[in-house]
Amino acid sequence: MGAALHLAHVEQAATDPKRKRGGGGGGGRDFAEYANRIYQDQRADAKSRQLLLALAYVVTMQSEPASAKEFWRSVRTALGRDERYRFTDPLRELIEHDRPRYVAPNGRAGDYEPCIGPRLRPFKERPYKAEQMSLPARVAQQKRDAEDFRNTENICGAPGKHRVLEKQPGTGWYHWHWFCARHSDHARRVAEQVKAQNEAAPDPIPNAGGLMPCYFDADWVRLYRHYTWDSWEPPVYGVRADDWPVPGKEPVPQRARLRLIAGNGDLEDA
Ligand SMILES: [Zn+2]
Repeated sequence: MGAALHLAHVEQAATDPKRKRGGGGGGGRDFAEYANRIYQDQRADAKSRQLLLALAYVVTMQSEPASAKEFWRSVRTALGRDERYRFTDPLRELIEHDRPRYVAPNGRAGDYEPCIGPRLRPFKERPYKAEQMSLPARVAQQKRDAEDFRNTENICGAPGKHRVLEKQPGTGWYHWHWFCARHSDHARRVAEQVKAQNEAAPDPIPNAGGLMPCYFDADWVRLYRHYTWDSWEPPVYGVRADDWPVPGKEPVPQRARLRLIAGNGDLEDA
């Protein structure tokens, strides 16, 4: 049923290029439809929703802007003021958040993970003399130790110092293996083991951002570049999250997209 609505929408847009925006009943219906899609999009977090809803509101409910500048001013107004962003530009921040990219599960700067080097002796939270503890205390302590990740996974668990990148052959997705100073020889060995695999791995399939192009039509490469940095390059898989293959998942069906701004002026200072 949802699909039929979207098909009708595509047809309407295609056969009536001068279709008036906003004002009339159509705008409200379009907005409700887009808002519904946005709220059901599991990929969209709070920031993405804020941006997508503001864009949908301006595109469907407001009259055609005279210029790109006016359009983006309306988007900023729709986003509203945000005290958290007093010293930054909320629109820029939200668009950068939607930049198509791959985010590694443990790749953030400042993230240090426990060493995964092999454990030789069972980990004990603290040394204790069993005969000096009451039986319940001893049982509880032994249970805690047995359930500790260092014992269940049989890994060293000391603070990581060296990290080794491993790329997946099919997807190019990567993550890091961490090793402590004592296990640096393991780190070198693992690095050697994954070397050929890493060199052969493709560019990573993006897994973050790219939602704006699923809903709206625009010169996205230019636009993302404008709000991030001049040298930003789109992923080889394209800018639209719908087009990115996810292993084990069906492709997202194509749906109607609204043109952000008529003409070619997609940038506010163009
Ligand atoms: Zn270690």
